[in-house]
Amino acid sequence: MKTYPIGLVPGPVSVPKDIREVYTVDFGSADLEDDFFELYRKAADLMKNILSTKGDAVIMSGEGMLALWGALKSVVSPGKRVLAVSNGIFGEGIAQMARSLGCEVREVSFDYDSIPDPEVIRKEALTFRPFIITAVHCETPSGVLNPVKPIGEIAEEVGALFYVDFVSSACGTEVLVDDWHIDLGLLGSQKALSLPPDLAIVTVSEKAWDAIAARNYEGYDALLPWRDGPGKKELPYTHNWHAVAALFKAADKLLREGLENVYKRHEDVKNYCLKRLKNMGLKVFAGEERYSSPTVTAVCVPENRNWEILNSSLRERGVVLGGSYGPLKGRLFRIGHMGSQADKELVGKALDVLQEILNN
Ligand SMILES: *Cc1c(COP(=O)(O)O)cnc(C)c1O
Repeated sequence: MKTYPIGLVPGPVSVPKDIREVYTVDFGSADLEDDFFELYRKAADLMKNILSTKGDAVIMSGEGMLALWGALKSVVSPGKRVLAVSNGIFGEGIAQMARSLGCEVREVSFDYDSIPDPEVIRKEALTFRPFIITAVHCETPSGVLNPVKPIGEIAEEVGALFYVDFVSSACGTEVLVDDWHIDLGLLGSQKALSLPPDLAIVTVSEKAWDAIAARNYEGYDALLPWRDGPGKKELPYTHNWHAVAALFKAADKLLREGLENVYKRHEDVKNYCLKRLKNMGLKVFAGEERYSSPTVTAVCVPENRNWEILNSSLRERGVVLGGSYGPLKGRLFRIGHMGSQADKELVGKALDVLQEILNN
């Protein structure tokens, strides 16, 4: 398989050596050992600390989409009202997931390059009276970071559960689960945590646990078994011991670096990126600089350029950036500067190469 020295795809991100080393440890034939439950609890506690919640953090074996599906299926049933806030591909995707589960979905849509307007959402919420409101913190395909707290306050006002996809923002920028009234917070391991795509992490509030118990959904992706299971040393399936150990290590590293420093590192790389792009005459997709996410920058493909050709020129020089998909395919490309890739030197090298290609 071809590898690239300058990898800046917005997930899965490059996995640092010390994390890869955790995967080489042989845990023997251990399954439901006390040591594992201790490790699970410690990893969950670190995640609660990072995400600022006194609720629970459930760690499931599977990729980030498992968090999105499992959390939704664990609370909704056919006919439940879902107010889906969308200004991008993931927001629309969540609305579609809810429709597929037979929910009555009202989608409040905003332009992809803007951020959601809380007043519009509030009006809809007051008339529609949803059971749950869904939102996306960072719309990875378009590089927009949405303010979540104002939507959380609306959910609180109308008594709805609040479901937030922070897969590509958490651990790279501040996420305050309790302060933002998030009942179900969704995270995957392959973004700012810089792990392989092995784990789905879901924060669960007390209110969400009540809804989960009332729904009593059973399935491979169900959250309910995780309420008391780890405490009773019972799991619904064999867990990924290596991944949980790697998560503990990654979370511990973030806390040792200091969350403020971690967030500043991301913010600095974003600002550096925006400045250099501007100097090259390139346009960032987000309507305003402050909408642009500290974890990923989406750039408009210049009028006279073709992304496929630009992409192969970059790859020939060892740089791999992200394209985009859906309605954004070919229109923009993305620089993923989250986790291990929130590194000014690395991003600088990629931008040097991009500049060189554009000058030719
Ligand atoms: C990455 C990501 C997910 C998980 O989806 P995959 O594309 O399967 O990795 C979910 N939500 C958002 C916003 C993401 O960026």
